[in-house]
Amino acid sequence: MKVELFKDFTIADYHKWLREEKISLPELIEAFLERIKSIDPDLHAFLEINQQAALTEADILVKGDSFDKELAPLWGIPIAIKDNICVQGLPTTCGSRILRNYRSPYNATVIERLKEAGAIIIGKTNMDEFAMGSSTENSAFGPTRNPFDLERVAGGSSGGSAASVAALEVPISLGSDTGGSIRQPASFCGVVGLRPTYGRVSRYGLVSFASSLDQIGPIARSVDDCTRVFEIISGKDEQDSTCAPYPPFSRNDIPTEEEIRKLKIGLPREYFSGEVEKGVLELIEQSIDLLRKNNLETIEVRLPHTDYALEAYYIVSPCEASSNLARYDGVLYGFREKEGEDLESMYLSSRTRGFGEEVKRRIILGTYCLSSGYYDEYYLKGMKVRTLVRHDFEQVFEECDLLLTPVSPCLPFNLGEKTKDFYQMYLTDIFTIPSAMAGLPALSMNCGYCDHLPVGLQIIGPPFREELILGLAGFLEKRLSLTPPFPNFHQ
Ligand code: GLN
Repeated sequence: MKVELFKDFTIADYHKWLREEKISLPELIEAFLERIKSIDPDLHAFLEINQQAALTEADILVKGDSFDKELAPLWGIPIAIKDNICVQGLPTTCGSRILRNYRSPYNATVIERLKEAGAIIIGKTNMDEFAMGSSTENSAFGPTRNPFDLERVAGGSSGGSAASVAALEVPISLGSDTGGSIRQPASFCGVVGLRPTYGRVSRYGLVSFASSLDQIGPIARSVDDCTRVFEIISGKDEQDSTCAPYPPFSRNDIPTEEEIRKLKIGLPREYFSGEVEKGVLELIEQSIDLLRKNNLETIEVRLPHTDYALEAYYIVSPCEASSNLARYDGVLYGFREKEGEDLESMYLSSRTRGFGEEVKRRIILGTYCLSSGYYDEYYLKGMKVRTLVRHDFEQVFEECDLLLTPVSPCLPFNLGEKTKDFYQMYLTDIFTIPSAMAGLPALSMNCGYCDHLPVGLQIIGPPFREELILGLAGFLEKRLSLTPPFPNFHQ
């Protein structure tokens, strides 16, 4: 059988063919590598392609007896990894000049788990520098383009991970989400992205941006694929003290259709305002109608502190970033500016030339807010607002089981459209930041196309209730049964 990748196949499909030996594993990996080689020059989803190692890995899997392909849940499945997650021997640049030459000496916990499950790391994906951004235009290595329209952004900061999955360069990928970086690019690229509950997935080996917010999560073309990856990467980890002592997620916990029909879905009024583009709103409303037709109850709820979440996020996250990024000084990692008369001027010139504009803006802002005498006025106040935002969610989850909202108020925008005005860029995350501030799990999935561009719908749940979110997402996916208007180079 000829390996035909230009369709919406799932992990289950690949597994079936591999098991039945309709395709060989090296053939499968080579076909994906070919596809990356042919379309990635246009898309720029990848920063590094792990060609040789991926083929060797495939060989080892086929010859070795260390894996039972009947049992290993991701046996032979290629996966792309955001470039802020450490994979031993591969570069981890975080989309930054300052880490241009850095190679990871160890694997992140999620990578260890993926490998144990038989997955093959196919490459590292492009991202906004240190995950700061919403369009992947802040990458020091050039932006990723949206597979549905190459003149538009793929979203960010996990733009490479989302675009690579949408363009069928790879079936699944990992991203990271601090304030929306999995969900917003997943929405812009028409794929499924899950931000797990804070603490559900180990952050060991994830380069920190804002430690109290960062989470790793899967991006896939179907809810089922997303679930399979989440099952592998979740669960406690001795290496990360912020990782919750909670059992790993299990697919068996996903509610039945009958149980899903009994869920009460909250629609927060603050997320359905005039700020949302009309085309986006119409598609979200169609999905809500679909749920109602299937007898699910919907109620309007209020999250009164929503408006303050974005502002508080842009205090809390830069503070944490300024502290986390202090380690890049030209001594320990990556880039060092050669000139400089003494140590201090070497630090100064390395950081000045190594970091991009947005990262520097946040370091300056964070350093200012944390400076002596200002801590109470800014960081502490930001954290207090964060508590209010969390309380809003706690209250609504007394009235309903899940929340349904848009992911972003806008469609994927043109490259360059928002780079001049960083506040406009920040606003594209207005609906993903509040739940991140509250540490909640949330998923983004496609709910239709407006002017041939994908629109994402967000499902937010109470802490550690990913099974409800994934259950509802699967229920909707089945009934929406959308066919993506694939762009030209998909044919
Ligand atoms: N776009 C947001 C920011 O720039 C969120 C980024 C993220 O989730 N990593 O901070």
